[in-house]
Amino acid sequence: ERSKLKRLKKADPLTLDDVRVDLMANIELPDDVQAVKDNGADGVGLFRTEFLFLNRREIPSEDEQFEAYRKVVKGMAGKPVVIRTYDLGADKALDQARSAINPALGLRGIRLSLSEPAMFGVQLRAILRAARFGPVRILIPMISNAHEVDATRAAIDRAREDLRDRRVAYGEDIQLGGMIEIPAAALALNMFLKRLDFMSIGTNDLTQYTLAIDRGDEEVAGLYDSLHPAVLMLIAHVLAGGEKAGVPVSICGELAGNPKLTRLLLGMGLRHFSMHPSQILEVKQQVLTSDVGQLAPMVRKLLRLDDSAQIREQIRRLNLPAD
Ligand code: PEP
Ligand code: MG
Repeated sequence: ERSKLKRLKKADPLTLDDVRVDLMANIELPDDVQAVKDNGADGVGLFRTEFLFLNRREIPSEDEQFEAYRKVVKGMAGKPVVIRTYDLGADKALDQARSAINPALGLRGIRLSLSEPAMFGVQLRAILRAARFGPVRILIPMISNAHEVDATRAAIDRAREDLRDRRVAYGEDIQLGGMIEIPAAALALNMFLKRLDFMSIGTNDLTQYTLAIDRGDEEVAGLYDSLHPAVLMLIAHVLAGGEKAGVPVSICGELAGNPKLTRLLLGMGLRHFSMHPSQILEVKQQVLTSDVGQLAPMVRKLLRLDDSAQIREQIRRLNLPAD
């Protein structure tokens, strides 16, 4: 089975009706690039850079971060690399001693970065330097307010100036994107559409915050459901808004790597997927055997259902072989 899938590595990710789909990979450390290439991904859709910061005493220096980002960018040889600025805090706390009352709702992601401008500047300079070696995009985690995007742009401008002053070379063209993973960001999408070059839906956190279910809490794991009608409504809203405004939308949460949901997502209009490298070929197999023109009206109907069991049954039907 695995060897049959391997043959899909070089196949173009096109649907039966010739719709092109982007299948990108999520990585945590530079060494993961090998798996990305082995599975023929179209790029790195999410580099979770906080993993460079975990389990160590000092934060990585600008040079160390630069080397890590450059390794990924060079390894991808011209394919795009989406570098998410460190999403520390909550389940990935740097300082275990600093215990917030409710860390998932506390100083994490971009909130933490903007409160530590020196540390943020180190990372931004390292990313800008690595952008000389290939197409790099910056992705901001956990945005909920427009000013966070504006402040990040200003921080990137400052990082450029610092490098210019030091006469250090850096890449010029960098797109700026934001993670849509807080319900407020999905609902008040307009304020981000104007400010961002692309968006990526983090369905892991979007599910947690929409349903008020801690994604790491075993006791409520049974209630954690990314197919809850409320979560699907938010995803559909973001996809429609992005489409209308011409801002590309990807999904980089676990949902995107589940081959049983590929047809649902294609039917909803998703064209940019990012997932664990090991899922790429299975999802590609679904893409190659799907007809978007046929799926779209079926999925439109499915999304009007308000019963999770019925939604699941209809998703199963999308996956039956066409007769
Ligand atoms: C998400 O929240 O869906 C996501 C992709 O980011 P992370 O899992 O790293 O929080
Ligand atoms: Mg997240």
